[in-house]
Amino acid sequence: MQTFRNLSIRKKLAIINTGVNALALLLAGGGFFAYELVTSRSTMSKDLLTLAEMVGTHIAPTLALADRKDAQVTLSMLSVNEHILAAVLYDSAGQPFASYARPGVNALAEAPLRAPGLYFDQGDFDLAREVLVDGKRIGSLSLCSDMHVLYARLELYAAMVAGMLLISTALAFFLSARLQRVISRPISHLAAIARRVATRDYSVRAVKESDDELGALIDGFNEMMGQIAERDQALQEGHDQLEDRVHERTRELTHEISWRKRTEEDLAKACDAALDSSRLKSEFLANMSHEIRTPMNAILGMTGILLDTELTAEQREFAETVHSSGDILLTILNDILDFSKIESGKLTMEVIDFELSDVVDGVIDLLAERAAKKQFELAAFVAPDVPNHLRGDPGRLRQVLVNLLANGIKFTDRGEVILTIVKESETDEEVVLHCAVRDTGIGISEEAQRRLFQPFMQADGSTTRKYGGTGLGLAICKVLVHMMGGTIGVQGAPRQGSTFWFTVRLEKQIAPQVAESPPAHPLEGIRLLIVDDNETNRNILHHQAAKWRARADRAVSGREGLSMLRHAQAAGDPYRIAVIDMHMPEMDGLMLAEAIKSDPAIAATALVMLTSLVNRDTETIRAAGVAVQLSKPVKESQLLSCLVRAMRTDGEGGELDARTAPAPQRTGGEGIVGRVLVVEDNAVNQRVAVLMLRGLGCRADVAANGLEALAALERRAYGLVFMDCQMPEMDGYQATREIRRREGDTRHTSIVAMTAHALEGEREKCLEAGMDDYLSKPIKKQGVADVLARWIASPAAGESAAAPPEQALDPTALESLRGSDADPSGVLDIVHVYLEETPSLLSQLGEAVDARDAGAASRTAHALTGSSDQVGAAGFASRCREIEGFAGSGEWDAIEGSLEQLNDQFEPLREEMQALSRRIRAEAAPHGL
Ligand code: ADP
Repeated sequence: MQTFRNLSIRKKLAIINTGVNALALLLAGGGFFAYELVTSRSTMSKDLLTLAEMVGTHIAPTLALADRKDAQVTLSMLSVNEHILAAVLYDSAGQPFASYARPGVNALAEAPLRAPGLYFDQGDFDLAREVLVDGKRIGSLSLCSDMHVLYARLELYAAMVAGMLLISTALAFFLSARLQRVISRPISHLAAIARRVATRDYSVRAVKESDDELGALIDGFNEMMGQIAERDQALQEGHDQLEDRVHERTRELTHEISWRKRTEEDLAKACDAALDSSRLKSEFLANMSHEIRTPMNAILGMTGILLDTELTAEQREFAETVHSSGDILLTILNDILDFSKIESGKLTMEVIDFELSDVVDGVIDLLAERAAKKQFELAAFVAPDVPNHLRGDPGRLRQVLVNLLANGIKFTDRGEVILTIVKESETDEEVVLHCAVRDTGIGISEEAQRRLFQPFMQADGSTTRKYGGTGLGLAICKVLVHMMGGTIGVQGAPRQGSTFWFTVRLEKQIAPQVAESPPAHPLEGIRLLIVDDNETNRNILHHQAAKWRARADRAVSGREGLSMLRHAQAAGDPYRIAVIDMHMPEMDGLMLAEAIKSDPAIAATALVMLTSLVNRDTETIRAAGVAVQLSKPVKESQLLSCLVRAMRTDGEGGELDARTAPAPQRTGGEGIVGRVLVVEDNAVNQRVAVLMLRGLGCRADVAANGLEALAALERRAYGLVFMDCQMPEMDGYQATREIRRREGDTRHTSIVAMTAHALEGEREKCLEAGMDDYLSKPIKKQGVADVLARWIASPAAGESAAAPPEQALDPTALESLRGSDADPSGVLDIVHVYLEETPSLLSQLGEAVDARDAGAASRTAHALTGSSDQVGAAGFASRCREIEGFAGSGEWDAIEGSLEQLNDQFEPLREEMQALSRRIRAEAAPHGL
């Protein structure tokens, strides 16, 4: 079947036609043949019946008469019928009576006795019938006819049918082979065309030969091809257009890309230029700051030193004016620098751990003197719930506070300036603080308030003339406050004072080292009386005392205080401490103290006196029985330690000064001695630094640049190096790197940068170069003292084997010799004698050593030990003690080594002692001694 399906249409058509034709003929022939068979047989049987009837009729009488002969004659007449093979007449008993048979045929076998009927049998056709006479059966007749004729005719028919079938099939095949072309050719043609279409030749068309379905099919095909060709062309055109467009676009893009590249290059160049110019700008800023600060350094440093010398009142006034003008100039300079940093986007915020109390105390400390000069109250109050351990930029916070407080002090003549810090909101990580600076000064009109916080804006034109200033401070504060996530504002009215407030968002330290409120406080439950006429001060002190869980009460005057003290005593719950303000109307602090101490009932009360920095008479106050004196403005940490100390001293006289009391690092500068190297190219700055260091009891050598510094450090070790950053030949950074390289891991000389660069990142740059600390120019005596305290006394310096701090002279020894005696001449005499005698003792010792005279060496060394111990030359004394020891055991080499060191040490010691005596003399001078 599959094979048939795959045949060509032509063959299929031929086979189908021929097959159908043959089948039709076969059916027709078969029908015809069957019909012939049936009709022949029927005719034959009719003929035989008729014959049997005739023979029966004729033969009946012969049988009835038993005339066998006649019967035989009758039967033999049957020979005329060529089909009859045999005939037998049976009598009534069934016995053959007469018979006929063709030659060679057995009559009885062919025509046996049978019941009447027709029988087809093995190619024969038999018939049996009864012979009747008068309706009575007298015998029967059997006839046998052969069927050859019939079969011969049928064979002929079959042959004819077969012949016709053959001929007609051949004819049909021949004709269909010819005629099927009418159908198959157009189809094959279409198929061939379709094959060409498959090769994308859409131009071919089929040829139509007829208008029948095939013609319609070809028409449809051609039309379809036409459409395909059209579409193909449109497609091709579209494709061509697209290609054109792509070409064009590519050209445009290439153009654009090269244009962009050019622009990018231009931009990069412009960017480089901009960066260059911005770098130049910041370099200019740095240089300008350096250039201005260097002479400022000289002015401030030198006037500072000048003020330390003996001056006439007029000279002192001049020098003080120069100094304060320099300070103002420096503030303005700092403001301008800050402002330019803001302008150039260089201002960045640090995020470091700090204590809020340190910032507040530092600010108060800084401004205390200014406030004291104007004789009004300056105080700070930090609400108890404000967290102390914070993270942020303490420097910037301090700057804003200093600015606002300094303005408050500047624009206030009487009354008070109070800083209040309260908590605005708090989360686990952050706290928002609300800081307010309230003053009782000139105030600002509403209209002027609107203009504030903009660069170079002052409340009115007369401000500058009267108070000075640039109008930059508040603008800078605003930026800083914004950078700290807060806002800033002002309230107030003319002549009613102003309140400048701001908020800051600060992180809380993750793990504060110290608990926010220690569980058991030394002042807990202690009864305390605050006597102050100033309400704000009274309230702040009361708040602070409450924070420490003391039981504090307030009195507004000396008189009230006294009666409260007496009352409490009488009630059996006396006050342990009284905090008294020195300056009060009517009964002042001194009078109150005297009154308390002269009343035995309440004399046991420990007294803390709040004094102002100026005009205080320490001695008188102490004489009045005051345990501790405290300079205003009062810092919280200080107050606490004073109160604790007052409780402990319980009436013993003592003094605690805001400048010297609880912060040990502030005392560090005084009396610290050691050899220090100042690396600085500017001659004036060299002198300023050296003089300051000498004033602080240090011996200083000078190197003019990095190379000289390296050479100096090769020659000897220094306890500390002050390193300028910008220097010719080799700058400070290079020099530091080289020093660190040479030291390796074995040594570490402390190096402190001294730089005029006020730019952000400068400190990091110094630390990165290997420096340990940073001092901004112009250097101030306190700053230098702090640095000395930090580095010379620090373990780092102590550990440094090659650079032992040269504690040649302990000034306290001489101070103690001086004792409470204000007259320094005795001490100065001792120094004088020691310095006169020591060189001759040293030469005597040298001679004894040369002569290997152990006894003389030991004696001289002993004498030197004693006198050196006396004046506090501890290092010198211990070396002498060494020699004394070595002399006993005769170790002359060791003695010689020690003697050499002793000789080396004497010169610095002499200088230090002379510096100390100068200082002692200078201190005595203002008192007119
Ligand atoms: P400067 O004080 O250097 O002029 P500021 O920006 O700090 O610059 O202040 C701008 C102006 O705001 C001041 O000139 C002054 O007119 C006014 N001002 C600032 N603080 C106060 C204050 N506490 N009381 C009155 N006026 C003030």
